[in-house]
Amino acid sequence: MANGRVDIEALKNALSITLVAERLGLQVVHGKFRCPYAMRHAHGDRTPSVSISESKGLFNCWVCPDVRGDIIKLVEICKNLDFKGAVNWLENEFGMPMSFEQAVQNGALNSGDLQPAPLIKVVRKAPEPEIDPVLRTKIILAFFEMLSPVEGSPAAAWLVKRRIFKKTWEKMRLRVITDYDKVNRGLLEKFGLEVLQKAGLFNDNGNLRYYKHRLLFPYLDSKVIPRYFQARSIESDTQPKELNLRGQVPFPFHVSLLDGEPGWIYLCEGCVDTLTLIDRGFPAVGIPGVKSFKHEWANLFKNKRVILCLDQDEAGRAGSRLVMEMLQKAGVEVSMYGEGITVEGFQMSEGQDMNSWFGGKK
Ligand SMILES: [Zn+2]
Repeated sequence: MANGRVDIEALKNALSITLVAERLGLQVVHGKFRCPYAMRHAHGDRTPSVSISESKGLFNCWVCPDVRGDIIKLVEICKNLDFKGAVNWLENEFGMPMSFEQAVQNGALNSGDLQPAPLIKVVRKAPEPEIDPVLRTKIILAFFEMLSPVEGSPAAAWLVKRRIFKKTWEKMRLRVITDYDKVNRGLLEKFGLEVLQKAGLFNDNGNLRYYKHRLLFPYLDSKVIPRYFQARSIESDTQPKELNLRGQVPFPFHVSLLDGEPGWIYLCEGCVDTLTLIDRGFPAVGIPGVKSFKHEWANLFKNKRVILCLDQDEAGRAGSRLVMEMLQKAGVEVSMYGEGITVEGFQMSEGQDMNSWFGGKK
């Protein structure tokens, strides 16, 4: 069979990544499987680290930077094949392009299945809608103007428990949603649903996404204008704990410190850790997650000496190595916290983050 470009796209579109993973002998449970490079993980990756996105046809190990991609890449890794070899393996295994009848014959489906799912995958997720960045900023600014100060809200006690105090809430302009319905309505009246969805603030049901995540951390630019934000739930049973604004993250949290002047920067993971260090008087900058550092951000750190303060766990260390490489390529001096460098002479222990290290309670 020809390995033409069209055939490969058709192949990728037609096959369920879950099915391919299973055919490769991987045990998929709740959209996750154990990393093929289990030896790189603690406990042989007993708790699976690789996630599948069925709608996008992609997989991603949250520890190994090289274990991610599409179904072809998955076959390459598991069968130790090159690209062409992987395509051939898929074609031999499933037959292509495959009709429903063929799928049944191949044993990929039971003849009793009413519809050819999950093997024949028709729906592909539409790409993220684009929005004019100026309009997006305008919406974010209007949103923040509708919010309330932290003082006097349940979030105040939550922050104090984490040893993040009023001077820091005010300096970093944290806000809370006190009257969800009012903010929801106010935004709709001002901008209309379609634009709000494109901007990433509203969900498919037509509502503001931050019903449970009511504590807002703005990403302020050098003119103190919020250009992005992360939202946090203060209830312990909410998953996920944080909800990011959809779309591009324009720069790291607390970017105003990256002024090109010589100095130290403590680079943290997530707003809570960053705020913890800011509260203690450290020059701290944050990234939304271990994998969210972008190549183009490295230049922002010019003339700084960076200490990486990501979580003391496997994902944190893997993330640190990636960020370190990107910063070093840009000529930035960087050390990893925990490798001889400590804060106030102490070392963090396994599983700790900056907030727990400074006495923050969960
Ligand atoms: Zn892995």
